[in-house]
Amino acid sequence: MTAVTPGLVCSHHHLYSSLARGMPAPPKVATNFQEILDQVWWRLDTALDLEMIRWSAMLGAVEALENGTTAIVDHHESPNAIEGSLDVIAEACAEVGVRVLTTYGITDRHGADGAKRGLEENARFIRGGGPGLVGVHAAFTCTDESLEAAAGLAEDLGVGVHIHVCEGIGDTEAPKRLEGLTRDNWLLSHCVHLPTDHTLKGTILHNPMSNLNNGVGYADPARFSNPVALGTDGIGGNVLESFRLAYVMQRSVDVSVGPDPAWKWLETGWDIVPEARNDEVTWSYDPMDPWHIAFTPGIRPLDIKVDGETVLAEGKTTKVDAAEVRAKAAEQATRLHARL
Ligand SMILES: [Zn+2]
Repeated sequence: MTAVTPGLVCSHHHLYSSLARGMPAPPKVATNFQEILDQVWWRLDTALDLEMIRWSAMLGAVEALENGTTAIVDHHESPNAIEGSLDVIAEACAEVGVRVLTTYGITDRHGADGAKRGLEENARFIRGGGPGLVGVHAAFTCTDESLEAAAGLAEDLGVGVHIHVCEGIGDTEAPKRLEGLTRDNWLLSHCVHLPTDHTLKGTILHNPMSNLNNGVGYADPARFSNPVALGTDGIGGNVLESFRLAYVMQRSVDVSVGPDPAWKWLETGWDIVPEARNDEVTWSYDPMDPWHIAFTPGIRPLDIKVDGETVLAEGKTTKVDAAEVRAKAAEQATRLHARL
């Protein structure tokens, strides 16, 4: 028995993280979220070049399709390969047949020039017709000038800003610093430590597996009046897995709740990338309803059409050879890990 749904949307991904698996252990065991950033992600992103970004995105796009995800909302950072990075990601996703709404996450961690070049990359890509938002890493790594410049650019371009907000306790100033800047089209990722009575506008992106993995706490997104959508924060492209975790984590604080709220969060992805509603995923399981999905492991897509084009047939990608993508990505991962 099979069932058909629209393509799923992963509302917060970092395609550049696909090559992180197997990376050498950091010099010292990270004991908190800031140390995880310092020792894992900020070492990894500075080592990226465009060739690594390309194969990392190809692998992430293949894995998304293999899990029924036809649209990725990506958040990218590569401080030593900024210019052209968003094109590389968009082209890689197009080659695989996955939709992407990408962004370059600006930061002042590498000085004001880095933030400026990041903003220019966003502007260049979006003005050229690329599907993107203006990206900001997070308030705690940006000056007020950079936050205002990003908000202003987004306003000029008629798009939202995609930013991490209150993921860890080091970003608790964010609600104050972003006050008055946010709009309904902004995407606010994590919001674990965002007060319930905050005044920020935008959709909150919930990434339950990442939050557990980083030990930052539970966002409890049901407490917010903002719309909520589901992401993976770079841990693959399996949105059904995010849904299952979002559901049981909500149960962990409210055992009376059913899977419908978490399913609604998954559906919010279609407000962020409405085109994914035109996609068709034929699943190995029927019925695809929240109660069944919450308790059925191993549901997988058999066939996928994106805008009428078959991109997955009998579980295999049709536009690219997935085995070849994996082999090339492994080569690039070896290069990347050697740099760390
Ligand atoms: Zn993230």
